[in-house]
Amino acid sequence: VMTKYVARGADEMRALGARLAQALCAAPMNQSLLVTLSGDLGAGKTTLVSGLLAELGHAGPVRSPTYTLLEPYRLQGRDITHCDLYRLRHPDELDDLGLRDLRVAGSVLLVEWPEKAEGRLNAVDLSLAFDYAGPDARTLVAAAHSPVGQAVLSRL
Ligand code: ADP
Ligand code: MG
Repeated sequence: VMTKYVARGADEMRALGARLAQALCAAPMNQSLLVTLSGDLGAGKTTLVSGLLAELGHAGPVRSPTYTLLEPYRLQGRDITHCDLYRLRHPDELDDLGLRDLRVAGSVLLVEWPEKAEGRLNAVDLSLAFDYAGPDARTLVAAAHSPVGQAVLSRL
């Protein structure tokens, strides 16, 4: 199942991220959730994540963890990890990042540039594909790949 959204401006993209936060929080705490964010540089991936984290109570800016590859947050009793794999040199490096260990009950993994993992990210629940729609708008196509992903998407 897929759903398409249009965000006209960064504020609308942040608002969409806030809605996703609410939808994620409705998911049961005994599940972990893997969400991938695909799309060109500047397509709005980090903007959506910043809206999501702000909705859950994070104050302050959110940047793509381009060099550290991941940034952990603890919000609303959940471990939320924001990953940016753009600078991943080889999928083997994923093991060092310990992403597998982050997949525990109640955790949320948000991964930009999942393509860099070359298929080594298994069990994706929700994939988000961002695209330019002119200079001042973006489209977002969300697709669910698991029952919990579908539950989240249906609330978005
Ligand atoms: P990415 O993480 O995909 O590389 P960013 O989220 O960092 O992209 O966004 C890049 C730029 O695009 C930022 O200046 C941001 O304000 C802008 N932007 C984000 N979403 C939208 C949108 N829906 N419409 C117009 N500009 C947007
Ligand atoms: Mg980014």
